[in-house]
Amino acid sequence: MTRITVAKGDGIGPEIMDATLEIILAAGARIEIDEIEVGEKVYLAGNTAGIAPESWETIRRNKIFLKAPITTPQGGGYKSLNVTTRKFLGLYANVRPCMSLHPFVSTKHPVMDIVIVRENEEDLYAGIEHQQTDEVVQCLKLISRPGCEKIVRYAFEYARQQNRKKVTCFTKDNIMKQTDGLFHKVFDEIASEYPEIENEHWIIDIGAAKMADTPEAFDVIVMPNLYGDVLSDVAAQITGSVGLAGSANIGESCSMFEAIHGSAPRRAGQNIANPSGLLQGAVMMLNHIGQTDIAENVQNAWLRTLEEGIHTYDIFKEGSSKQKVGTKEFAQAVIANLGKKPSILKSVSYANNSALMLPAYVRKPAARKELAGVDVFVHWNGTNPDDLAEKVKKLSGQGIELTMITNRGIKVWPDGFNETFCTDHWRCRFKPVEGTSINKSHIIDILKNALYENIDTIKTENLYSFDGNAAYSMGQGQ
Ligand code: NAD
Repeated sequence: MTRITVAKGDGIGPEIMDATLEIILAAGARIEIDEIEVGEKVYLAGNTAGIAPESWETIRRNKIFLKAPITTPQGGGYKSLNVTTRKFLGLYANVRPCMSLHPFVSTKHPVMDIVIVRENEEDLYAGIEHQQTDEVVQCLKLISRPGCEKIVRYAFEYARQQNRKKVTCFTKDNIMKQTDGLFHKVFDEIASEYPEIENEHWIIDIGAAKMADTPEAFDVIVMPNLYGDVLSDVAAQITGSVGLAGSANIGESCSMFEAIHGSAPRRAGQNIANPSGLLQGAVMMLNHIGQTDIAENVQNAWLRTLEEGIHTYDIFKEGSSKQKVGTKEFAQAVIANLGKKPSILKSVSYANNSALMLPAYVRKPAARKELAGVDVFVHWNGTNPDDLAEKVKKLSGQGIELTMITNRGIKVWPDGFNETFCTDHWRCRFKPVEGTSINKSHIIDILKNALYENIDTIKTENLYSFDGNAAYSMGQGQ
C-alpha cells in the first residue's frame, strides 16, 4: 500500500480526478489517499501561494503527489503553485510522453511517438525579474551545471530503460553561448557515456519546426525549461488533443504527476472533459511506485477504449469515432475494458518500468576564477552614446578604462551606428588597461564616483575568467 497525496484542483480538475481515481482503484491500485485543497479557493482566501502550510506537510510526508490542474488567478501577485511545487520539492525532471493513436485519434502525424524531457527548476522560470529603468525590465535566465547534468542524465537513463534509440537536445546556443551553451556542452559530455544511444543537437527554432512537421524524426528530446514548456504542449496537441498527455515531475525524493493541460474553466462542470491526460499521469505514478502490473492493465484498457471509438468531445470525429461520451462514461468504458488489450494499437508491457535512481550530483573541483572587469548598468535618458561615454569615462580609477557601451546588448560606443535604436538602459564595460589587474575595490570606487557624478547606476555584473577562459559575452558587433 502506498499513501499518496491528491489535489482535485480547479475547473475540470475535480471531474477528471474522480474519473482517474475510479479507474485506477477499479484496477486494484494499492494506494491510500490524503486529499488536500490547493488552487483558486486557497488563493482567493488570501494565501498568495495557493496552498496551506499543513498541505505541504502532507505532500512531503507522502512524497507522491497526484495533482489535477489548477487555476492561477490573473494579476494580484499570485505565484504559480505548479512552478513553486516543482522547485520546492526539487522535481527537476518533467517527462511528457506524446504518442499518436492513429487511426483512432485523428492526427496529421500517424507514427509520432516522442518523449519530451523538460528541465523543471531553472532557466527563465527562476522568476527573478526587475524593472530597472522607465523603459526596461529584465528576467534572469539561470542555467546551472547540476541542473543540466541531472536533466540530461535523466533523459539518457530514461531512453536506456525504455529501449529508445535516440536522444535529441534543443537549445539556442548560437545566441546564448553561456547559458544554452552550457546545456549543450553538458549534453555532449553525458551523451558520450551512452554510446549505444544515438544523440544529436538541433538549434531550437529549426528543431521545433521539424518537430511540428516531422515528429517521427524524434524519439526522446531534452531541453531547458521554457522551450520544454512550449514544445510539450505543441507535441501533445499534434497527437490529436492536449487533453491526451500526462506529465511526471520527478525529484530525488518526491514526485508529482499531472496532466499537461490546464484547468479549462470553460469546460468545467459539464461532464465533457477528457480525463486521459491525468490518467496518463496516474499511469506514470503507478509505474514510479512499483505497481507496474496495475499501470499496464490501466494503459491497455485505455488504449482499447480509444480503439473502440469511445471518445470525449475533444477527439470525437464523425465517421471514425463510434460514441461521443462524457468524462464519467469514458471512465466506465475504461473500467469495463480492464483486463483486455488493444487489438490494433500496440499493447504495453511495463515489466521493466520502475523509478529511475540517478546518482546524486557530485560537485566538480572549483576552477581558477579571476576578475577580468565589470559591466556597470546605467539609467540615462540621453540619446548620444558619445555623451554618455564622456561622463562615465570619469568614473574609472587608475589602471581601469571604459572599453565599450552597449544598449540592449548591441555595441553603441565606440563606433556605434546612428541607426541603432537606444533605450534608457546602458551597459558600460570597464576593464583593466594592459598589464594591470582589477579587484573589487575598483568596482566600489566606480560606483562611488558615479554617486558623486550623479549617474544612476542600476546594477553591476562582474566579468570573470575561469581557468583563463573569458566567461562572459562580448557586445554584439564588438
Ligand atoms: P487549458 O489547457 O486549461 O485549456 C485550453 C483548452 O484546451 C480548453 O479550453 C479546452 O478546449 C482544451 N482542453 C484542455 N484540457 C482538456 C481536456 N482534458 N479535455 C478536453 N479539452 C481540453 O489552458 P488555458 O485555458 O490557457 O488555462 C486555463 C487555466 O489553467 C489557467 O488559469 C492556467 O493558469 C491554468 N493552467 C494550469 C496548469 C496546471 O495546473 N498544471 C497548466 C496549464 C495551465
